[in-house]
Amino acid sequence: NEALSNGRAIELFEAQRLTDAPWELSLHARIDEGLRNGEIWLAFQSQWDIASRTICGAEALIRWDHPLRGPIAPDAFILQAERAGRIDALTYWVLEQAITAALALNARGPRFQMSVNLSAQMVDKAELVTNFAEIVKRRGIDPSLLTIEITETSSVRNRPAACHNLTQLRQMGFRLSIDDFGTGEASLAYLADLPSDELKIDRRFISRLLDSNRDRTIVGSTIGLAHALGQSVVAEGIEDEATFHVLRQLGCDHAQGYLLGKPQPFAVFEQAYDASLQRQTGVG
Ligand code: C2E
Ligand code: MG
Ligand code: MG
Ligand code: MG
Repeated sequence: NEALSNGRAIELFEAQRLTDAPWELSLHARIDEGLRNGEIWLAFQSQWDIASRTICGAEALIRWDHPLRGPIAPDAFILQAERAGRIDALTYWVLEQAITAALALNARGPRFQMSVNLSAQMVDKAELVTNFAEIVKRRGIDPSLLTIEITETSSVRNRPAACHNLTQLRQMGFRLSIDDFGTGEASLAYLADLPSDELKIDRRFISRLLDSNRDRTIVGSTIGLAHALGQSVVAEGIEDEATFHVLRQLGCDHAQGYLLGKPQPFAVFEQAYDASLQRQTGVG
């Protein structure tokens, strides 16, 4: 009897331990399984040419539909994958998937630009450039159809190695984009040191554009600065028509945001792209 109640106590304790478990701390252990099972998938969010209001590309954004926890935000598990040293597997998986999508979309019409995010933990790794070179060669994709988004953070460990890698990737033909511009600790230093092709203005500036003259000035000047350096500008996080209109007036090149399209599974994104192509050619 006592043994039975002990067993029960242990069972209850185990159940309690599971529900209280800091599951965030063990997510990384399931990354490979999540990739194999299709729990981890890639969403695509459209990027638009502002002047013609047509889709010119997409950003690939990772998603994890965990069987027990439901959707987990990438900000949560990317950080963990970085800490657990599992970010390489995720990054190369994303790149392969994004290339598959880019090849399919480029077969349909004009140049389609595909953006992928590169973790700060990856950017200084010695094998990064050879791995990227091997992948694009094997997949037969023109690297200039791929844009690598990097975020300015203090977490890049070896800054000279990172600059060296990014310069080499750019020489191979990849486009480089500075993501979340304006929020990093050294955005201007990044602009000065890194040869990049695109600047993505962070959502926090875009969302206040209508209310704040200061933000309008900052965004307008940033666009001017980028253009003077030969870079194009993407505004991220556009949620309403009025903001889209202001950005067009400010001379911004490209736009991304819920107003224009949310991150979607490939099949849904593909339909939106086809509709945009049809409007472009005047069919339909
Ligand atoms: P990010 O690269 O700056 O991506 C833009 C984020 O803004 C995405 O969040 C997107 O869903 C969200 N967003 C886009 N338009 C709007 C809008 O109009 N309103 C609002 N409120 N949000 C909008 P998401 O998908 O949750 O990704 C968050 C971050 O996780 C990304 O920020 C990126 O830093 C990281 N991430 C996502 N996928 C990957 C990946 O494959 N690799 C790496 N290393 N990081 C990734
Ligand atoms: Mg990004
Ligand atoms: Mg961003
Ligand atoms: Mg971000």
